Amino acid sequence: MASQQETDQQVNEGPVVDDEGYVVDTEDCEARELAHRERGTSRPITVVGNPVLHKECADVTEFDDALASLIDDMFASQRTAEGVGLAANQIGVDLKVFVYDCPDDDGNRHTGYICNPVLEELPSELRVLDDSNEGCLSVPTAYAELARPDYAVVRGQDRFGNPVKIRGNGYFARCLQHETDHLYGYLYIDRLSKRDRKDALKQMAEGTPRYPVVPND
Ligand SMILES: [Zn+2]
Repeated sequence: MASQQETDQQVNEGPVVDDEGYVVDTEDCEARELAHRERGTSRPITVVGNPVLHKECADVTEFDDALASLIDDMFASQRTAEGVGLAANQIGVDLKVFVYDCPDDDGNRHTGYICNPVLEELPSELRVLDDSNEGCLSVPTAYAELARPDYAVVRGQDRFGNPVKIRGNGYFARCLQHETDHLYGYLYIDRLSKRDRKDALKQMAEGTPRYPVVPND
C-alpha cells in the first residue's frame, strides 16, 4: 500500500504526508523551494492599507494549474522579499493560500504551502505563550513583540484538494498563525496595543523596504 501511495505522490508531486496526516515539510527543502521559485515569477508585495489585506480571502475551490502557478509565484516573491512566510493577498491575490520557508526552535527548516488553512484550537495545557519579536513583509521595516502560543497546528488542503495538516513550534508556530491570520484579513499589528501599533506604523513610515512593494493609492 505504501509503495503505491509513494508512486502516486511522485506522479502528481503532492506533498508527502506522514501516518498522522501531517505534511513532511522538513525534507528536501532546498530542492523543493528552488523548483517552485524557478517556475514562478516574483511579484511586488502589498502593504498595510491595501484593501486586499484587510478582508477575508476567498476559499480555494479550483485545484488547477493556475493554483500551482500561484504557489510558484508566491515562492519566488517570498525569496525576493527574504520572507519566511507569504500569504496570497500579500501579492494581491484574493485566495486562501500561504507558503512558508521557516525555521522552528529546534533548528529544523520547514518548507511548504497550504490552501484553506484553519488554525486548530489548542487545549489550554498546550498554550504556552511566547512573546518574541514579529515582523511582516506588508509592514516593511517594522517589528514588535507579540505574545502567541509557541505551538500551532493548521489544517487545510494541498494543491490537489487533499486534506493536509502542518504543525510546528517556536518561530515556525508564530509563522503558521501569522500567515493564517493574513488570509482572514488580519495583520499582526491588528493584535498589538494601540500604542505598539502606532509605533510599528511609525517604524514603517521611517524605513525603506528592501523589496518591491505595491504603492497604496
Ligand atoms: Zn505578514
